[in-house]
Amino acid sequence: MKKNIQLTALLITTNLAYAEVDLLITDATIISPITQSEVSIKTNHWLSINEGRIIEVSDKAKKPPAKKIINANGQFLIPGLTDSHTHLRTMPGLLKTDKDAPKMQTAYLKRQGSNYLYYGVTQVVDPANTAQGIASFKELNMSPNAYFCGAMPIYQGYSAQGIKYQHLNERRPYYVHQHGDPTHLNTPSVNSLHEAQAVVKRLKKDGAICAKIFLEDGFDKATNIRLINNENVEQIVDEANRQNLPVMVHANATDMHSVALNNHVDILAHGIWNWLDEHQQGDDISLALPKNVQRVADGILTAQTYYQPSLNVMRSLTDVMVPNHLDNPKYKTVLPSWQISWYTSADGQWFAREMLSGWQGLTQQQKIDYLRSKQINGKRVLNYLYKNGGKILLGSDTPPAPTYASQPGLSTFWELQDMHDSGVDLVGLLASATINNAKAYGLESKYGTIQPGKIANILLLNSNPLVSVDAYDDIHSIILNGNAHKREIFHIRNL
Ligand SMILES: [Zn+2]
Repeated sequence: MKKNIQLTALLITTNLAYAEVDLLITDATIISPITQSEVSIKTNHWLSINEGRIIEVSDKAKKPPAKKIINANGQFLIPGLTDSHTHLRTMPGLLKTDKDAPKMQTAYLKRQGSNYLYYGVTQVVDPANTAQGIASFKELNMSPNAYFCGAMPIYQGYSAQGIKYQHLNERRPYYVHQHGDPTHLNTPSVNSLHEAQAVVKRLKKDGAICAKIFLEDGFDKATNIRLINNENVEQIVDEANRQNLPVMVHANATDMHSVALNNHVDILAHGIWNWLDEHQQGDDISLALPKNVQRVADGILTAQTYYQPSLNVMRSLTDVMVPNHLDNPKYKTVLPSWQISWYTSADGQWFAREMLSGWQGLTQQQKIDYLRSKQINGKRVLNYLYKNGGKILLGSDTPPAPTYASQPGLSTFWELQDMHDSGVDLVGLLASATINNAKAYGLESKYGTIQPGKIANILLLNSNPLVSVDAYDDIHSIILNGNAHKREIFHIRNL
């Protein structure tokens, strides 16, 4: 398939070598990932784009005429970033009962796409959305190319807790029926829609690019959440394999990751930060892992399962408890002042209060330190996996909960920084955000590298991303579907 596309592109190039193109970028250093440890670097090359696609990458003296030319002397081109774990439907931290909630939500949704673009995210995957949801995301404003997965919770299971059985079909269109469900409360036609195999077939038909299941029986050592049974997981994986859909799994504890691995899933949507009986012995992220954690990590390496560390989850759950966290000036790149004011108001602090309550006797600092220890767990597992050849994906899980400390785009950038701090070198980091995500989600013919035939979603950077992670915050222009936009237009002050 890939070969064909490249061949076609080549033919077009030959035939139209002197025809005018939409955009020509000259004198660039073009950095295109090959694998997680290999990258192609071409200096003084030009790149032509027409009708939203990359046409040619070359250093030939003769260049095609172009409607628009960008001289990128001293600058760097990389593929646009994919954040493969985003939740696009709700303003982070929104209190749905607030009188201004609808107004805030509308204003947020209108500019959400720009926040992502400001930080160079030109593709997003929402693992729990629908074709309709993605269509409205695209309609609202300029936005990254967006894809969705069908999320398949079970009744009373994680991500469907508190939803009445009669409302489940409407609120969780891809929920999976499980033995013991009160099926008499729904009509037979609704029930038959939710058999595991039928759901996978249906979500594929609806345009989902993956199937997501939840392996979560409760936080930490709790087992208070109904868990999907093995029969269902097996059926989902079998059908997804037949449909050529990757299976993405929510799991963050050693026991749940084990279940995922036993079932040969494709993508682990979270890092392993819940180590159950095994605790960290210090802050050094390169320390050897406890026995059980290492056993699971070795399973990930053997199976070469894609791993989304999603360090942003524990980071943003910690930071929402940190006093004055919103004073971080970076928030002023994505948040308007009304939103910062609301977040710091009594109403806006509702989730921070929730996070800080019910910990029996711990001080605020002890609570923060406890969650920080989970962040270190996640970093240590990532460090181990990356060092040993694990396949890593950039997926921030923005927002993972109603925490205002996870904002679109900015969280993706912080995720890159945290991954780098955990030992992912800059070549691997670029791959995790580009080629690895493209491969994991079956999007390789469209994204992931700078090659003829691919969609022209490209970043023009002022500094070299193979020298410093800060290059991802030093973006000159974002090329989206072949159109170049100065980064500045996506800054909150210009929206
Ligand atoms: Zn998520």
